[in-house]
Amino acid sequence: MKLLVATGNQGKLKEINRLLADAPIEVIGLDQLIDPPEVLEDGATFTANAKKKACKMARFSGMLTLADDSGLVVAALGGEPGVNSARYAGDHGDDAANNLKLLSEMEPIADENRQAAFHCVMALAWPDGRCETCDGQVSGLIMRGERGDGGFGYDPLFMVPEYGKTMAELPLEIKNRISHRGTALRKVIPLLQELANK
Ligand code: IMP
Repeated sequence: MKLLVATGNQGKLKEINRLLADAPIEVIGLDQLIDPPEVLEDGATFTANAKKKACKMARFSGMLTLADDSGLVVAALGGEPGVNSARYAGDHGDDAANNLKLLSEMEPIADENRQAAFHCVMALAWPDGRCETCDGQVSGLIMRGERGDGGFGYDPLFMVPEYGKTMAELPLEIKNRISHRGTALRKVIPLLQELANK
């Protein structure tokens, strides 16, 4: 069974490919489509954006499609950067600028108020318009400087207290075991297995 994974984010793609490695599916990337449409991520929630991306790409490609919308929610910043995580500092996907902005916004926040969570919604869409969503979260604390060079995005600033390490210091196997994306995708896998057995 073929599955289109509709993300241009290489960090996400690497994690999703690893999580799906044992599932009975062949993963197709956006790079294998000719002129895929742009999707404006203008929804107010992770769910709205994930559904929009998955549905649009499923209709375009005629394939079963998986899309991820995810981001960092910081309580002391009223939930920011939230759905705007990829473009917090302006340009879409500029991780270095986003991290600098987060560090500066968090500068006055005391150590005991630096709780945050990564959220992920995975949407699985069929070309006929059907769509199912699954979600996942992981809690942590925002650091005062970057640590580690693994992962992507805000990982070097996101401390996982259970490990005493940032997400960027944890091996991919451990990140996938505890992460928002891993939790959401593990809920999608039984749906894929059911479809593959039909
Ligand atoms: P999306 O493409 O709109 O879903 O944006 C996702 C953005 O959220 C990324 O560009 C990162 O800034 C952030 N993000 C999502 N998941 C992670 C993660 O696992 N680690 C670090 N940052 C993440």
